[in-house]
Amino acid sequence: MKYSKIIDTIYQSVLSADNLGKVPTYIPELAQVNPDKFGVYFYSLNKQSYGIGDCDEKFSAQSISKVLALSLAYSIIGDQLWRRVDVEPSGTSFNSLIQLEADNGIPRNPLINSGAIVVCDILLSILEDAQADFLTFVRELANDDSINYSILVAESEKSVGYRNFALCYYIKSLGNIENDPIEVLNFYFKLCSLELTCKSMAYIFSFLANDGIRMHDRVQILTETCTKRVNALMQTCGFYDESGEFAFKVGLPGKSGVGGGIVALLPNQYSIAVWSPKLNNKGNSYRGMKFLEEFTAQTHTSIF
Ligand code: GLN
Repeated sequence: MKYSKIIDTIYQSVLSADNLGKVPTYIPELAQVNPDKFGVYFYSLNKQSYGIGDCDEKFSAQSISKVLALSLAYSIIGDQLWRRVDVEPSGTSFNSLIQLEADNGIPRNPLINSGAIVVCDILLSILEDAQADFLTFVRELANDDSINYSILVAESEKSVGYRNFALCYYIKSLGNIENDPIEVLNFYFKLCSLELTCKSMAYIFSFLANDGIRMHDRVQILTETCTKRVNALMQTCGFYDESGEFAFKVGLPGKSGVGGGIVALLPNQYSIAVWSPKLNNKGNSYRGMKFLEEFTAQTHTSIF
C-alpha cells in the first residue's frame, strides 16, 4: 500500500477543514505554542517512512512520556508493578482525584496522572538517577542523543501544578508513594516536558509495534508479553475518558498528550505520530483525532 499518498490527501483535507478546540492554558508555557502547527510522521517496520507538515519540529510530549516511563519500569520490575498501579480504564479525566480514596491510593492505570506519578516514584526507588536514566532510555530508543527535557516547560508546569501536587500528596497519605513527594513531582514534571518531533516519536514507539524490539540494533526492550500489555493499556486507557471514542473511531493502541501530540501503532506494521496543539474538551488533539480516524479508515488498518 502507498501510505505516503494517503497521508498527503488526508493531511490536506484536515488542514483545510476547521481547526477547533483550544491550546491548553493551564501550563503557561504551552499556551505560547502556535495553534496552527500540524505535522505527521509515519514509520513502518518495513522502513517505508514518510513525514509531512511540521513533522521535524519539537513539541512537548506531555502524557505521551507516561508510556515510556511505564515501559522502563516494567522492563525492570516486571509484573510486581501491578501491586502499585492497576490496569483498568478510569473513565475520568487525566488529572482526576476522585477514585483514589475508594481504591486505597492505587491509581486505576499508569497512563493517567496519578498512575504516572506512582510510576515516577517506582523509578526513583529503583534507579540511581531517575531523571538521567530515563533520558538515556529515551535517547537509546530514539537513537538520538539530542533529545532532552524542556526546563522551561517543567518549571512552568511546576509553578501552577497544584492538581498534581494534590495527587502526589494524597497518594503519599494513602501509603503508595515511597519517596519525598517533591522529588517525585520534579521527576514527573521533567518527564512530561520531554521534547520530541513527530519523526522521533513515531520511531521511538516502533519498538511497541515490533514485539518490544528496538529497530536499529534489535535489542529486546520489553518481552513480547509485556509489549502486548503496554499496547493493551494504550488501547484501553491512552485517551482518558475518550479512550472508548478513540477505539471506536480510530481503532489502534495510542496515547495523547496535552502538548497536542498523539502517537498510535499497529502491531507488526507501523507507528504514526501526529501533532496539532488545539485540544478538544477531553484534552486530546482535535486534528490529531480527525487525521487518525481518516487514516485507519482509508488504509483499513483499525485492529478491529
Ligand atoms: N503534564 C500534564 C499534566 O500533568 C500532562 C497531562 C496530559 O498530557 N494529559 O497535567
